[in-house]
Amino acid sequence: MKGKICYVCGKEDLNKNEIGLTKKLLNKDAKWFYCIDCLAEYLEVTTEELLAKIDEFKAEGCKLFG
Ligand SMILES: [Zn+2]
Repeated sequence: MKGKICYVCGKEDLNKNEIGLTKKLLNKDAKWFYCIDCLAEYLEVTTEELLAKIDEFKAEGCKLFG
């Protein structure tokens, strides 16, 4: 199966965390995904803030992240 591609910059093979963030923060049924850099820009936050979010979601036991 081919990996997911960032809808904005075309980065290939998005990792589980990037896909998880798109689902968690934008739309759980998302068909378009963002890499972490483009998602940060879209949400007007920093990449570091998103990485902190990933850690929070993981700590909650969210299965979308790993
Ligand atoms: Zn991107």
